[in-house]
Order: sequence, then C-alpha cells, then structure tokens
Amino acid sequence: MLAQLQEIVQRVNAAANLPDALQIIVHQVKAAMNTDVCSVYVRDPDTARYVLMATEGLNAAAVRKVRVALGEGIVGLVAARQEAVNLANAAEHPSYLHFPETGEKRYSGFLAVPLVHFRQSMGVLVVQQRTRRVFAEEEVAFLMTIGAQLAASLSYAASGSAVPSPEPGTPAPVGLIQGLPGASGVTIGTIVLPSPLADLDAVADRAVADVAQEEAHFRRAVRETQEELRESVGRLTGRLSDEARAIFDVYILILGQDDLVEDVVAKIRAGSWAPAALRDTIAEHARVLAAAEDPYLRARAEDIRGIGRRILLRLVSDASAPRVYPDDTVLLGDEVSLARVADVPPRQLKGIVCLRGSVVSHTAVLARGLGVPAVMGLGPRDVRSLDGHPIVVDGYRGRVFIDPSPAVIREYRRIVRHEGELSAKLAALRGAEATTTDGVRVGMGLNVGLLTDIDVAANLGIDEVGLYRSEFPFMSRETFPMEHEQYETYRKVLEAFAPKPVIMRTLDIGGDKPLAYFPATEENPFLGWRGVRLTLDRPDIFLPQLRAMLRANAGLGNLRIMFPMIGQLGELKAARQAVDRARRELVEEGCECPAPPIGAMLEVPSALLSIPALARHADFFSIGTNDLTQYLLAVDRNNPSVARLYNHLDPAVVRALQRAIRDVRRAGREVSVCGEMAADPGSAILLLGMGLERFSMSASAILKIKWVVRSFSREHAKRVLARALRMENGESVRGLLDEELRRAGLGELVLR
Ligand code: PEP
Ligand code: MG
Repeated sequence: MLAQLQEIVQRVNAAANLPDALQIIVHQVKAAMNTDVCSVYVRDPDTARYVLMATEGLNAAAVRKVRVALGEGIVGLVAARQEAVNLANAAEHPSYLHFPETGEKRYSGFLAVPLVHFRQSMGVLVVQQRTRRVFAEEEVAFLMTIGAQLAASLSYAASGSAVPSPEPGTPAPVGLIQGLPGASGVTIGTIVLPSPLADLDAVADRAVADVAQEEAHFRRAVRETQEELRESVGRLTGRLSDEARAIFDVYILILGQDDLVEDVVAKIRAGSWAPAALRDTIAEHARVLAAAEDPYLRARAEDIRGIGRRILLRLVSDASAPRVYPDDTVLLGDEVSLARVADVPPRQLKGIVCLRGSVVSHTAVLARGLGVPAVMGLGPRDVRSLDGHPIVVDGYRGRVFIDPSPAVIREYRRIVRHEGELSAKLAALRGAEATTTDGVRVGMGLNVGLLTDIDVAANLGIDEVGLYRSEFPFMSRETFPMEHEQYETYRKVLEAFAPKPVIMRTLDIGGDKPLAYFPATEENPFLGWRGVRLTLDRPDIFLPQLRAMLRANAGLGNLRIMFPMIGQLGELKAARQAVDRARRELVEEGCECPAPPIGAMLEVPSALLSIPALARHADFFSIGTNDLTQYLLAVDRNNPSVARLYNHLDPAVVRALQRAIRDVRRAGREVSVCGEMAADPGSAILLLGMGLERFSMSASAILKIKWVVRSFSREHAKRVLARALRMENGESVRGLLDEELRRAGLGELVLR
C-alpha cells in the first residue's frame, strides 16, 4: 500500500495542471483500491460549492455539472464535518441526494473522505462499489492517507479560481497560482529562468536562433573544460591521491571520446540551447551506465554527471556569451539567488517569483530593496518549460498569472497605472521631514544590501542607513571576498551616505542565508550556526570584515557596527573585543581609525529579556522583527506551510516590542526597528504609539511610512496601541490598523 501511495502522490505532484492531477488521482485510486468508481469534488472558491471535477466510473458528462453546497448531500456533509463517511448503501442515508446525470443509482457501497488543508475542506474524495458493503478499516485508512497527502498539493492549484465557471463566455483566469506576498507592487512581464550555476537538473528548456554559434559555444566550453582538467592534474601532481587522480583521468578520457560531445551537438542542431542539450545527453549516458551490471561501469555514471556539471559551469559563465534579458524580466526559480538577481541589469528586472520562501526570505528582502514586486512560496512545481512565457506578478496578494488572459492583463494594466499615480503623489514627500501631527520628529533609516540600493535611495530624504546587510556582497559572489575587496564595497557605501550614519551589520550568514562556497549542513539551521555565533567561531572570517569596515571609515567617521543574532551577554562582549582587536592591529599598522559606536540586534527572545545587561556594553539597539517574530512564535519565517501563523501583529509580538522599546529607553540607549514591520504602514502606527523614534526600511517603503508618520499624532497612536493590545489575535489587529489608515485618508496604503 505504501508504495502505491507514494506513486500516486508523486504522479499528482508531477502533473502539469489541476485537471490532469485530478484525473490521475481518480484513475490511480480506483485501480489501487479495486473499486467501481472513484470521483473527486473540488471546492470552487468563487461559489463555495463542491464541484465534481473528475471521475472514473460515473458518467463523464456529469463532470463540472454536479455541484453541492457545504452540508448538502453526503459529499457536502463530509466537507462540512471534515470526517469520513463509510456506508453500505448510500441511498439509505438521510442526506442522500440523487443526481441522475451521474448514473450512480447502480452503486451502493460508498466511502468518502475530506481533503482538508489548513482547516479548510478543499474537496472530497469518493469511492463507490456496486455491491452493498462497508469498506474495510485498511481501505478507509488508505483513502484517508491519500486524502491527507493530496489536500496540500491540491490547495495550490485549487486556490484562486482554478475551477472553471459554469457560465459559458466567462474568461477563466488562466494559470492563476497562489503563493505568498514577497514584495509589494504589481508587474506584467516575461519569465526568465535564471541559469543555474552547475545544477543540470535545474536547466530550463530553451530554443536557439543561431545554431552554429551555439555549437561553437558548446565546443569551446568542452575544450576549456579539457584544458582546465589537464592543468589541474598538472598543478596538483604529487598532492592528489591516486583515487582523486583517477577521477580526473577518467574525466579527460570521457571528454576525449566523441560520442558524448556529438550527441550534444546533434541536439543543438535540432534547435535546443546547449545547456538543455547537455542536460539530456548526460542524463541518457548516466542512465545507461547506472544500469550496467559491472560495478566499475556503474560508478562511471557519477563521473559523467561530474563532467556535465563542469561543462555547464563553463557554458553559463562564459563571458563571451552574456545572457540577453528582456526589458520586462521576471526571474522565476526555486530560490532565486542573489548572484542571479545581480546578473540582470537593474532597469530590466521587473519582478521575482520563487517556488520557496516567504515575505522575510532574503530574496524577498532583496526585491524590496530593489523596488520590484515579488511573490514567494508557490510550492513545488515543474517550471522548466516556462522560459519566455508572459506572467503577471501581484506582490500585494501574493499571486501570479502565467500566460494571463487579455482580461487579466487589462485589469493589471489598470492597477499598474494606479500605482504610478500613487507614486507621483508620494513623490511630493521626498524632501519632507517625518514629523507627527503633534511634532515628534521621526528618524527615517534605509535598509541597504547591494550597491544598487544607493541609486534607488537618492532623493528620498533619509536620515541614516539603519541597516547595511553586509552578507549581501558575500552572497552575490562565488568565493569569499578578500579584505581589500570588502574595503572597496564598504567605502563606497560609507562615502555615498556621509556624513549620515551608516549602521553596518556584521556577516549574518546561516539560516536562510547560506553561502554556496561555505556549506554547512544543519538539521535546524535557524537554531544553528548563524550570525554572530558563526563569526565568533571563525576569526579568520570575522576579523578581515571588521578591519575592512574600520579602514573604510577612515576620514569619514560615519560608521556604526552592529552584531546580528546576539542571544547572550558573552557574545556581545566577545564581538566587541574583536572590534577592539581589529582596531588595535590597524592602529599598529599606522591606520587612523576612530572607535565606532557598537550596537546589537534585538531579534533573539533571550536578548529582549536581557536589555539592561546588554545596554552596559552596547551604544544602540535595533530590533529585527523578522527573526524576533519567528523565534517568539516558533514559526519558521521561510516555511509556506506555517506562513499563516507568521504575523508580526500577533499581540504577543506587539507586547514584546513595547516592552523592549521601554527597556532600551530606560537604559538610556537609542533604539530603532529595522525588520519588515517598520515598512508596514499599519504597524508603523503601533510603533509610533510605543514611542519609537527611529525606523529603518527598504527604499520602496520610505515615502509611504513618511506619509503615515505625518498623518498621525503620537497621542492617537498610543490609543490605537492600547486597543491593539486588548485584541485576541493578529488578524483583529490588522483589521483595526486598516480601519485607522482609512479613517486618516490613507486607504490607498491598505494592502500596500
Ligand atoms: C530581522 O531579522 O528583522 C532583520 C532585520 O534581519 P534579517 O531579516 O536580515 O535577518
Ligand atoms: Mg535577522
């Protein structure tokens, strides 16, 4: 049974669309359970009815015709109660409803299970039997297990309006996929699948116009790979083990044989671009070898894949063939890495869509910095054939439309126009100060990650850089940057904003910010080797970074250094000592560098409960609400399955923030908020009410938050906060804040 179950789930997950997936389910389940009928009903979100979407056994003409409301008929009852029903003869049940078009009269035995996802009945799965019989316990367990597994897969496809409308002529929203909001804004663009670094499985299909050029490009990559291998062997002679040397030798040998190369060339000549031709050829050769009886030959399958990765790396990093991006590029990938984003000319990047992640993943943070909409967490699906397809990205509602219909495009053009009008209105606030109606001046800080953020930020009227995420330049490379390279980058940032203060956060890798060239496999990375824990353990990484920052500050004096993920006093003291050590070294070397103010992020709950002690060793604090929310609520910030529970407006989070701000002020230190909460217009009212006077956020939010600050008084914000703290959950708090924004005339910022 387990094998059948796995096979069904795998096939459903691989289905291209919802109707295919449903057809696979009914076909496979009917066969596996040896029943006369299997049908699936799916909830239509527009009408809240359960629609017969696929069947094997009932009349096919009934598909999409039979629709029942919650509680109506036995199917509606199963959906309402969210419990299985197992009946010897369905017609005898008081809820039985007869639909003549299905031809179901001849069936008696009836077993139905609900498809429940996040407490909602997404559908009902039914099997029926001609004979009068109650299904056995293990059959019920099997169908329930299938139902439990399928509900999640179905929910992706069935959310939105995937169930076609019964009225002819109503355009079905083609290819609507619901994900999670990542960065606000909407865009209409063209999908670009980023070239993977060396992952053959992630290579997309793409056609080539100039076959001869593609062939030459491929042959050059093969030649260079051969040369590189020979050089490596030469360089490493004497240092390579015999085993390792044998691998290189086999690689060189395989590359020297014509059949692999010629197979790829044949595919290129048939119109494929080289990476996909390589992907398929390598897969074919590896499959043949892996099936061999001889263990020596079987081991060569991995060698073939190793060669494939090397050639691919050459192909995609060949500077002589730079990737041409459309003017309305929307990057779509599993996780779109920083390196891939950096590859697209900024003006041409219009949106980012990721199958994984959520609003606080670093790709989303990056998108906000760049001011492009992003949708995250679309869920696992095969997107390899989508390169070049049109797409609408709705970063407010967290959804995309692939191959959108003309009606969808028209609607989104209207929204894009409206967005433009709002930006024009907000532009008037560029030079204005962020001062509340009762005269409290609020400092507006900018969150910066890439050097391109500096251009985006020009003329926004900011007061400081409240968070420079120093890991971003590390993430956009393929090796650790040397001290002098880091110096160049930090110097540019400090110079661009001088004399305004720049808070540079030391390296915060780990968690959802891995470095490809510094892999650490951890079972629970968010509770693992992250942020300052890692840098304290690795002075060889930490000290060059601190030295580079301190040197970059020479003659400018606007640097402030901040440590991420501080959880204990000892970490703060040790990190401070590292700064002192780096400074001493530099002074000895004759570099004139002043001691910068030192700060700690408040994002680990233990730090929030230790503010008086930490304040003796920190000059300032900044609250990272992204991590704080995940650690306080025990909800992974990147996991779409629990994204519903991740809410910085949860009253517990609001209370913790209020206390933290109070404690820092009592200790006589400065405090700001640099997590996403500071960029959320509704939340800004609460933060004002807490007495917060320094906010930091990405460029795209600055003018919106200025508008909020200038529209409220501190006193009114305090009253809103008091009401929020009496609420039961984050959704009610959101409702309250939306209402406050509307009443103040800022309704356009609701959902933004
Ligand atoms: C935070 O955790 O809120 C924060 C600002 O840091 P990051 O999102 O980079 O972890
Ligand atoms: Mg953080």
